[in-house]
Amino acid sequence: MLEKVADSIKHGYKEASSYAHKKLDESKRLTYIAMRNAELKKLYSELGELYYKEVKFNEPMLNAKKIITKIENTKRHWEDKLNSEAVESDEYSQEVKYTTINKNKPNFKFCQECNVGNSINATQCEHCGARL
Ligand SMILES: [Zn+2]
Repeated sequence: MLEKVADSIKHGYKEASSYAHKKLDESKRLTYIAMRNAELKKLYSELGELYYKEVKFNEPMLNAKKIITKIENTKRHWEDKLNSEAVESDEYSQEVKYTTINKNKPNFKFCQECNVGNSINATQCEHCGARL
């Protein structure tokens, strides 16, 4: 279990930091990557805290699987965004432009269940259907 967690963390960081795509312009690409990395960093730190508690207090890592699923969904979500050419003209594009100007106010609503980023006006998660 612990080796798997460590691998997932190492792999995740490598993947997140080396990702590049030429279909999107540089600033948009950097915005996506920054948002994705911020989201992943938060999740990796939650995992790290669980690990600490297991080592220090022998608490079982009961929520580790849920967090790892969120990490996988987060990576998949942003890869889809980076790979999508349609992003140029859709609603997300407008939001990312807004987000670029207001860097401290990411204009996305993240699902509590699966951690996929949804449009700010969405009432239901586009990935799992949970209420937002
Ligand atoms: Zn969801």
